[in-house]
Amino acid sequence: MDALSQDYTPISSILKGGQAGKKVKVRGWVYRSRTSGGVCFVVVRDSTGVIQCAVKKDAVGEKSFREASEAYIESTILVEGFVREDKRAPGGFELAASQVQLVAQGEPFPIAKDQSVEFLLDSRHLWLRSQRLTTIMKGRHHILRYLRQFFEKEGFWELTPPIITQAGCEGGSTLFEFDYFGQKAYLTQSSQLYAEVFTTSLEKVYVLAPSFRAEPSRTVRHLCEYWHLEPEMAFYNQKMNMELQERMVEYVAQKMAAEQQDILAALGRDIGKLKAVRAPFKRITYDEAIEICRQAGANIRHGQDIGADEEEILTRSEEKPLFVTNFPKKIKAFYMREDPQKPGTVLNDDLLAPEGHGEIIGGSERIWELDELMQRLKENKLDVRNYQWYIDLRRYGPFPHSGFGLGIERLVKWLLGLDHIRDAIPFPRTINRVYP
Ligand code: ATP
Ligand code: MN
Repeated sequence: MDALSQDYTPISSILKGGQAGKKVKVRGWVYRSRTSGGVCFVVVRDSTGVIQCAVKKDAVGEKSFREASEAYIESTILVEGFVREDKRAPGGFELAASQVQLVAQGEPFPIAKDQSVEFLLDSRHLWLRSQRLTTIMKGRHHILRYLRQFFEKEGFWELTPPIITQAGCEGGSTLFEFDYFGQKAYLTQSSQLYAEVFTTSLEKVYVLAPSFRAEPSRTVRHLCEYWHLEPEMAFYNQKMNMELQERMVEYVAQKMAAEQQDILAALGRDIGKLKAVRAPFKRITYDEAIEICRQAGANIRHGQDIGADEEEILTRSEEKPLFVTNFPKKIKAFYMREDPQKPGTVLNDDLLAPEGHGEIIGGSERIWELDELMQRLKENKLDVRNYQWYIDLRRYGPFPHSGFGLGIERLVKWLLGLDHIRDAIPFPRTINRVYP
């Protein structure tokens, strides 16, 4: 058998049924194996699934049998055999092997059962082959695909921003600073300010790029490098902005529930929870949120930011995501427009995912008038020299506009029902990990 030939059958297509009795070839890696007497059971995985192969010495001959029984976990293997329906086999089908060949035996695989979380993170480059992470990465792929599909339908342009920048926009404490040929520069915390530039030519745009935050604490929902989807829309007010977020979240949740049931089931995710995600979502103000949290016994004062514990209180009995609007101006970023109806608060929203997952989106109407922006930069003690280009947008053809930032890994964590954000990204970057 030739490893490079194109006539291998994807395992998932065998498991779909309809091929019983047919002779097929599969190509992949040994998922597990066990030999007893003259039979070796090799479970083979490829990118689409796993299938058990029954390798009988009598049927395959000495050489094939030796290669099958010498295979390590993760050895690369080719198997030719007849498809057989078998209720006892995982997936309901197995291959009765007629020929087996190792492409490479390799070395014994270092990951066995019951390994510590730290060991698995050190071995992430190998652990990404696990069924669980493979399934999650497929889920992530579909979530990104549906998001792009949604914005295509809505008539948005996708643009790519710079990653190296001199404009911090989410507060100095989480900036990754470095020396750029003698000047101070940062890894971007958000591409929003550039997305705002793109609206001046293309009106409705989105950026999908990494954002970097030097997060000092260990939580289950903060990474130091995460993927950030940042739509920005000309001639949108905050109400239109929130309706767009609703439509987007509903679209992705419904697509996942309708088209990716295998992935959700493999991860033990309750599909009904995603089916319930239908617009409109409930809206409460920051003031109301604080009141609810205090009544539930939380030790939070008006004027403090809403943290993970409070988000848990607010969403634990919700079926759908929840908008919290009108945060105090003082605790929000400089670019958010003050609400003329509720002075002291801004036209913003945090969208909180249910079941305790918490914030997945932060959005707002942007300040578009020059005087208001200059005032807010001053109040926030920001150096206007770094923001000249951003200020220019309020000088030349300014217009009302809004936008939001969605954390991809936060969305993946919620939709797939993961406990920890690190599993929503292939190589998590956290305060104590940049390897592998
Ligand atoms: P949080 O209060 O949870 O730290 P934030 O207010 O700092 O979030 P924003 O600055 O509004 O978040 O960023 C927009 C979105 O980016 C958030 O709603 C979240 O989905 C995502 N996000 C922010 N920080 C991180 C992080 N460290 N890791 C992963 N995703 C993040
Ligand atoms: Mn933060």
